[in-house]
Amino acid sequence: MTSQIRPQPGIMQITPYVGGKTSLAGADNVIKLSSNENPLGPSDAAIEAMRRAAPNTHRYPSSDHRSLRDAIALVHGLDADRIICGAGSDEVIAFLCQAYAGPGDEVIHTEHGFAMYRISALAAGAAPVEVPERDRVTDVDAILAACTERTRLVFIANPNNPTGTMIGEAEVARLAAGLPPQVLLVLDGAYAEFVDGFDSGTALIEARDNVVMTRTFSKLYGLGGIRVGWGYGPRAIIDVLNRIRGPFNVSGTALAAAEAAVLDAGYVRHCRAENTKWRGWLADALAASGVPSDTSCANFILARFADQTEAEDCDAYLQSQGLIVRRVVGYKLPNALRITVGDEISCRRVAAAVAAFKGAGQGTA
Ligand SMILES: *Cc1c(COP(=O)(O)O)cnc(C)c1O
Repeated sequence: MTSQIRPQPGIMQITPYVGGKTSLAGADNVIKLSSNENPLGPSDAAIEAMRRAAPNTHRYPSSDHRSLRDAIALVHGLDADRIICGAGSDEVIAFLCQAYAGPGDEVIHTEHGFAMYRISALAAGAAPVEVPERDRVTDVDAILAACTERTRLVFIANPNNPTGTMIGEAEVARLAAGLPPQVLLVLDGAYAEFVDGFDSGTALIEARDNVVMTRTFSKLYGLGGIRVGWGYGPRAIIDVLNRIRGPFNVSGTALAAAEAAVLDAGYVRHCRAENTKWRGWLADALAASGVPSDTSCANFILARFADQTEAEDCDAYLQSQGLIVRRVVGYKLPNALRITVGDEISCRRVAAAVAAFKGAGQGTA
């Protein structure tokens, strides 16, 4: 008998998300540089907040996230009533797709865009539409040209993952202004904190009714393990998202940690400065070994190799040295490896290993 129990359309087209590898069999002294995590970990204030929250774990958490939203609003100069918190920004991305796209609708993402846009669009029954980038940079004209009357959402990450590139404020504004009236633009600011002085497009959100942003505590704040992200946008849109949000979607421990983290401005500055320093150092060191990369605005480097074989060989060599980086074939970048900017020791180990790999390859090909 064939089962008549079937999932909703689109769901079987989803290729499940595969995260960065976390361990290497048989290797010790392993450094994980495959998931863009903060090598310095969470701030002491966030750890202390989690300790203080632990004894209250039998209580349901706040369902309106008031205290965290107030803290975010204070730090970023936003209206707390137009912030929504999620179990990671992934959840906010899913809410957006669920609320605004369904069967027959199209959701645009860029060629090397973050995998969750496609997954969330399919989960909502909508059709993901991939738009080419120009030399690994978001192409506003290509996105505008790809819009149809069925388009409902456009996702861009700025800076983008896994390319590390970003487009300027004027380009983002031109995109927002050029979209058809039924299209909502989502600015994914997962890496916004790594760009000094960049607010991920707040002014544009305030000026228009068709732009929202998503943000996360998983990257610069070093809190990927507790799953907190947030979104900001026009009141009408945040109101819609709150209707489909589960009342207890963010745990009390996570809310407490995120609030302490966002208020710890000194730690944010420190992490940003360390990242900027070692990102530049690592990019220069790789370039000196013959491995170029685009200037990264995030906490990783997209290292480019001659071809897929060389990228695979280098990945294998790095693994043999206890270094886990990210293959990005699934992001249509078969000849590249995405390497998270680690701490000083990690960066020195990566640079030395890549130099040894490239040196060993010379003259043998
Ligand atoms: C890591 C990442 C996210 C979000 O992650 P959460 O942990 O779910 O907040 C969102 N967008 C991009 C582009 C990312 O790289």
